[in-house]
Amino acid sequence: MTAMPSTPVLIDPFGRAIHYLRVSVTDRCDLRCVYCMSEDMTFLPKAELLSLEELDRVCSAFVEQGVRKLRITGGEPLVRRNVISLFQSLGRHLKTGALEELTLTTNGMNLAKHVDDLRNAGVRRINVSLDSLDPARFKTITRWGDLAKVMEGLSAAKAAGMKVKINTVAMRDVNEDECEELVAWCGAQGFDLVFIETMPMGDIDGDRTQQYLPLSMLRARLEQRWTLEPIPDVTGGPARYTRCTETSGRVGFITPMTHNFCESCNRVRLTCTGMLYMCLGQDDVADLRSPMRASEGNELLTAAIHEAIVRKPKGHDFVIDRRHNRPAVHRHMSVTGG
Ligand code: SAM
Ligand code: SF4
Repeated sequence: MTAMPSTPVLIDPFGRAIHYLRVSVTDRCDLRCVYCMSEDMTFLPKAELLSLEELDRVCSAFVEQGVRKLRITGGEPLVRRNVISLFQSLGRHLKTGALEELTLTTNGMNLAKHVDDLRNAGVRRINVSLDSLDPARFKTITRWGDLAKVMEGLSAAKAAGMKVKINTVAMRDVNEDECEELVAWCGAQGFDLVFIETMPMGDIDGDRTQQYLPLSMLRARLEQRWTLEPIPDVTGGPARYTRCTETSGRVGFITPMTHNFCESCNRVRLTCTGMLYMCLGQDDVADLRSPMRASEGNELLTAAIHEAIVRKPKGHDFVIDRRHNRPAVHRHMSVTGG
């Protein structure tokens, strides 16, 4: 009997199937969130960036190798010029069924004007980062943000029928006191809400030991007001989800610091210069730009992808305490793509 051809799958040395690629299409951003960047950042020269056509080519090579989910992120993906054309071209993989989901993570500042194009390209779910509902506090956290613009983007996304997940980095003494209210607000809006612990990535102007809030503490605080019933994971992501009985909304927790979330990791991350990080919290990197540019066909690129997956490490080694008050990795989250 001849074997049936099967869909290719990228399997790492620990038996984890890699179905998910996150792509940082730019390291630039129109905000300077205090946990993510310092105010004065040096960005990559634009000439070093992969073109949008090259980004499409790498993403498509991953889709051919069995990647089912693509998340476009950054930096702020919506500040990259013509980024919508990348969504439009990648949307063809949704039509063939090769890709299950095309999505993005955004700060929401420029969302309103792009929502319709994103939807037409096939985007159905988006993640929007929002750490406060108070305009003044939002400005302090993001340094340059305007809450009204994010709210406008969220309303537009809701009106277009997109599913929205709010990402909130929970920070001690910064927005900790607002987290109960965020649960109420997201529940009322029909948005999922995911809290994230601060991760030690890149130099920021502030002190991370001051910001760091273990989510176990936040959850205990939330449970004084809300009933949070654990629910099985349906997203395939690193968040552990609960359902808030009172609002019916989903509330998730991403706890890279207090729990190792690596066992079920199904993802790798591509930077805007074509470097592939097999782990958010490790420095090993595979150059995909050179093999891609070395030939018009994709053989070298595909081989480089397979070689990289074989090097995927077991997990990260993030620690934040007084003795470890340095970034675990020197690059910012905006480089690897959160
Ligand atoms: N600019 C977009 C945004 O903010 O949604 C996409 C890129 S941003 C790097 C992706 C996510 O990473 C955001 O939800 C942000 O809050 C989170 N993030 C950035 N730096 C972080 C850090 N050091 N620790 C934890 N989360 C971080
Ligand atoms: Fe920009 Fe997103 Fe980083 Fe904030 S978290 S500075 S919006 S890349």
